[in-house]
Amino acid sequence: MSRLAQTAGLTDIQQEILSTVRGFVDKEIIPVATELEHRDEYPQRIVDGLKELGLFGLMIPEEYGGLGESLLTYALCVEEIARGWMSVSGIINTHFIVAYMLKQHGTQEQKDHFLPRMAAGDIRGAFSMSEPALGSDVSAITSKAVKDGEEYVLNGQKMWLTNGGTSSLVAVLVRSDEGHPEGTAPHKSMTTFLVEKEPGFGEVRPGLTIPGKIDKMGYKGVDTTELIMDGLRIPADRVLGGVTGRGFYQMMDGVEVGRVNVAARGCGVAQRAFELGVQYAQQRHTFGKPIAQHQAIQFKLAEMATKVEAAHAMMVNAARKKDSGERNDLEAGMAKYLASEYCKEVVEDAFRIHGGYGFSKEYEIERLYREAPMLLIGEGTAEIQKMIIGRRLLEEYRFQG
Ligand SMILES: Cc1cc2nc3c(=O)[nH]c(=O)nc-3n(C[C@H](O)[C@H](O)[C@H](O)COP(=O)(O)OP(=O)(O)OC[C@H]3O[C@@H](n4cnc5c(N)ncnc54)[C@H](O)[C@@H]3O)c2cc1C
Repeated sequence: MSRLAQTAGLTDIQQEILSTVRGFVDKEIIPVATELEHRDEYPQRIVDGLKELGLFGLMIPEEYGGLGESLLTYALCVEEIARGWMSVSGIINTHFIVAYMLKQHGTQEQKDHFLPRMAAGDIRGAFSMSEPALGSDVSAITSKAVKDGEEYVLNGQKMWLTNGGTSSLVAVLVRSDEGHPEGTAPHKSMTTFLVEKEPGFGEVRPGLTIPGKIDKMGYKGVDTTELIMDGLRIPADRVLGGVTGRGFYQMMDGVEVGRVNVAARGCGVAQRAFELGVQYAQQRHTFGKPIAQHQAIQFKLAEMATKVEAAHAMMVNAARKKDSGERNDLEAGMAKYLASEYCKEVVEDAFRIHGGYGFSKEYEIERLYREAPMLLIGEGTAEIQKMIIGRRLLEEYRFQG
């Protein structure tokens, strides 16, 4: 274990899980991550290994075959995995959000049907809110479901589905005006549909097309796709929770735990960047001594390590708050905001420490430099986090004059 980012008060079981995951990351992920990333190759062997470790069911209750662990355990595992390769944590993340939404909001039949196979990693989840014309403004969704007998007919285009191709279950948020009179607030006329499909690309189910992978600057290996619904028929019992009009709240609940998870990813990537920077700084000599002996570089290392520590502490605090049953939107927003900004800064400092070599694809920091920006956007941009934080602060500190 490294000196940085320690977590006090973990149980023996949590420590054992983390040490197993860390061992897996050091042995199976770090040695191959950069090569696979450069080839934009899906890390099938790594995913099989994670399945064997039970990570796809980490937070799914034991009664459904999962490990029933807390959000904190999950977030600490994500931190370790992202330290190895951020894309791998992306493969787990959407699955985890969908499983969480099912656990919290699904009908008993939906839980029985999906959760045991999700715990085994046999069904893998993706979630879809964003559309070509919107991401932050979820209430502007235009994809639509219309009731037709015992089914709904879905039409519209979705954008930016992480694991859109490799998943077999997509939680899709659409507008469903049925039962909701005109003038209903937009977020009260949205519904989450549980859409089962074949993994792969092309027409994966009648009326449902996953066109192909979006070519990205980083976060490679994991597929990110569009999703096109053209007369897609979904039975009424695949409305999450069995009742329409609750989709917005269900998704926001899922994204809130997702934010802790993005914070954890930022922590993991920042830790790795620090490790790479502090190692390189002791190997590279300029002006007759290792660059680590120049005070300017030592100051950089000091700043980087401080940011790693601060982000980790906030992420752990947000996870613990949720685990205690309390509302954690303020803490999760702060943790996501701070960890992603610090991650970008720590990665940039490690990049600068590498001098010209940081620009070479031979060095791992080049990959991290292309990966860190995704954390500034995914699960809500910095501006959206600040809106959430600001609103909550005004609720807490209401003027009493
Ligand atoms: C690699 C990747 C994977 C993704 N995976 C998924 C996924 O699995 N599922 C999914 O549903 N989505 C996913 N997304 C989409 C992601 O959630 C959105 O990109 C993100 O929410 C931002 O939305 P946008 O891109 O439409 O930007 P916009 O909402 O158009 O925002 C553009 C800019 O304006 C700012 N802005 C917007 N509104 C305001 C405001 N009110 N005040 C101040 N500033 C504002 C934003 O912060 C941003 O800087 C993914 C995105 C990426 C890049």
